[in-house]
Amino acid sequence: MSWPPAPALLAPLAPWFETSRRDLPWRAADLDAPHPDPYAVLVSELMLQQTQVATVVPYFKRWMDRFPTPQDLAEADEDTVHKAWEGLGYYRRARFLKAAAGSIAAEGWPRDLVGLTGLPGLGPYTAAAVGSIAFQWPAPALDGNAFRVLARLLLIEGDPKARAGDLRTWLAPALVAHGPSRLTQALMELGATVCAPVAGCGSCPLAEICGARLASRTAEIPPVAKRAVPKASALWLVAMEAEGHMLLHAPAASGLLAGLWRWPTLDAEAIPAGSVASEAPALVAWPGWTQVYTHRREAVSPLYLRLEARFEAAKSLRWVPVGDLTRLPFGKRDQRLRDLLATPGQAPLEAPDSALLIQNLSKA
Ligand code: SF4
Repeated sequence: MSWPPAPALLAPLAPWFETSRRDLPWRAADLDAPHPDPYAVLVSELMLQQTQVATVVPYFKRWMDRFPTPQDLAEADEDTVHKAWEGLGYYRRARFLKAAAGSIAAEGWPRDLVGLTGLPGLGPYTAAAVGSIAFQWPAPALDGNAFRVLARLLLIEGDPKARAGDLRTWLAPALVAHGPSRLTQALMELGATVCAPVAGCGSCPLAEICGARLASRTAEIPPVAKRAVPKASALWLVAMEAEGHMLLHAPAASGLLAGLWRWPTLDAEAIPAGSVASEAPALVAWPGWTQVYTHRREAVSPLYLRLEARFEAAKSLRWVPVGDLTRLPFGKRDQRLRDLLATPGQAPLEAPDSALLIQNLSKA
């Protein structure tokens, strides 16, 4: 590692951050003291994993109104917590946050980085971010933005994450020199607002010393990771109503969709569009959409069926009073159908046979 010392190289970041930082609701005014509310830092860091700042801000404000302390969050029931997270995605974070709040409420905040890393949902990055921003511990926190800035500044070839250990060792003295909270946030802020994937070198405080800029290589450093081609599938998303109840999947206890209520789905290839069966008094449809996930794409065809009477549904399904729909937490795809139920649909030209749908959702 032959990089110039970090305290001198990163010195321009501190004054730049003083004048350029965004006013975000979780940010403390005083960057030299421990944060007055470490829980706010924890909430913001969990929300910011995989989610843009602009999306997080209103969620953060509502969350802090609803659960202002770790105790409040620890005591809330799971549906309420998932409901408050509804729309943010990656719901595992909400459960981790609740579990971490339970630990903090019962035992207080951990006293060191090892203790923070032991809280649910806090990997090395999040623990270091909370440690430096909330407690002023000189723990280097490298998120995607920080990796990009440092890769360009130091002209690192290949994936900078492969040099994470070296970068943390190199960065630590700069945190001590300029303040852990200030420098950690300044580095991430520069990556988020100036040294973005398309670099805005014209307004960068590091422009004079940046290796990638001086070598005219900002477009190729760091290299963009190739994404796997997402798997494609097609499904019917079915809102079935009978006797003032809707048929829903109860939340799973674990997995990506744990904690969320879901509409029944049926594989569109296994149940092709055919004639509309007569036993459904109402059958309406809306235009479909493609739901994009990290590793798959779903062609979603939303349907509504009203039946005369409930039937004995499969074990994982529940008949839920219609009035409960707005109270229960749904993922993004399923929210969309819930919202469509309030808008007029149309009698579908092509739909699956409703008798076949019922057969597939009935108790075996
Ligand atoms: S000069 Fe350009 S490439 Fe270098 S750190 Fe600044 S914005 Fe990024």
